[in-house]
Amino acid sequence: TTSPAARRSAELEPLIAQRPQDFRVLTGDRPTGALHLGHYFGTLRNRVRLQRQGVELLLVIADYQVLTDRDVAEHLAERVDDLVLDYLAAGVDPATATIFTHSSVTALNQLLLPFLSLVSVAELSRNPTVKDEIAHSRQATVSGLMFTYPAHQAADILFCKANLVPVGQDQLPHLELTRTIARRFNDRYAPVLPEPDALLSPAPLLLGTDGTKMSKSRGNAITLGASADETARLIRGAKTDAHRHITYDPQQRPEVSSLVLLAALCTDRDPHDVAEDIGSGGAAALKRTVTDAVNEHLAPLRARRAHLARDRGYLRQVLREGNERANTIAEQTLRQVREAMGTRY
Ligand code: ATP
Ligand code: MG
Repeated sequence: TTSPAARRSAELEPLIAQRPQDFRVLTGDRPTGALHLGHYFGTLRNRVRLQRQGVELLLVIADYQVLTDRDVAEHLAERVDDLVLDYLAAGVDPATATIFTHSSVTALNQLLLPFLSLVSVAELSRNPTVKDEIAHSRQATVSGLMFTYPAHQAADILFCKANLVPVGQDQLPHLELTRTIARRFNDRYAPVLPEPDALLSPAPLLLGTDGTKMSKSRGNAITLGASADETARLIRGAKTDAHRHITYDPQQRPEVSSLVLLAALCTDRDPHDVAEDIGSGGAAALKRTVTDAVNEHLAPLRARRAHLARDRGYLRQVLREGNERANTIAEQTLRQVREAMGTRY
């Protein structure tokens, strides 16, 4: 039961391995809090792996989009630094990656205007991810920014003509909209923009300790920077079910299966094998296995993170250089876009 997006991702992998230089990756995160295992197994690990394969990597820290579901963006500078920290700790190489905040790249944001003209209000309002985020939002009203952020994301992706976007499942509707915008722009004006593909990981929707999508904003996440003890405590408190025998069955047993999957991802094993090994050991044995697997897998990342955290100046330096590179790229694309639209005088 593989989804079309998962099948497409499987098709892409050998092409990427063969000709990494044909691909450019853009993906990113909102600076709304520390990255967690959902980000790591959903997209971050893929980013690092792609970069090591020789694919060019651009990472956007989507600071304007923090305001989609809250009135004020608190501790923004600190959270931006923390994202850079998590990226580098996970193995992103800043010598060839471009890490930037989209608010620093003026020309990128200007793309939003023509892009908005290419989508209908009906298309924006039936986006299932936006609907879900509105349901979980802290605000009583829905802002225009919430409604239009998938078009803004199209600008994030297309400003650098990225053709590959490693993301989690929730991003698929946005990728579809990005493709639509690129196609319509090319049809209406001139062939300037690529139609990017999503690249899903083996864990496109990792669940949190409460059995719903692991998310920064839902208090159900195990962060990359958490200590080993904190990790043990969070996993001990995770929701399971009444059946003692452990099996891997994501449809029928989502909570237990997401724990099994976590252990499997950390140890590079098949989740069915992991479940079989635990068997009648029950939830306590499962949680011990998961805790050990997570802590062991993350130990080198956490050590690097602690080391890098001592030099905030260096993190800022990485970001300054990334912003500069991103501005050069964005200005070039905006020139081509305006040329195509006949708005260069
Ligand atoms: P927020 O609650 O603030 O929206 P988030 O945890 O949903 O935070 P985002 O910054 O919206 O994180 O997402 C960043 C990237 O991580 C996206 O590609 C998204 O698909 C991926 N991602 C986030 N959570 C998960 C998850 N639980 N499983 C797999 N991928 C995820
Ligand atoms: Mg989100």
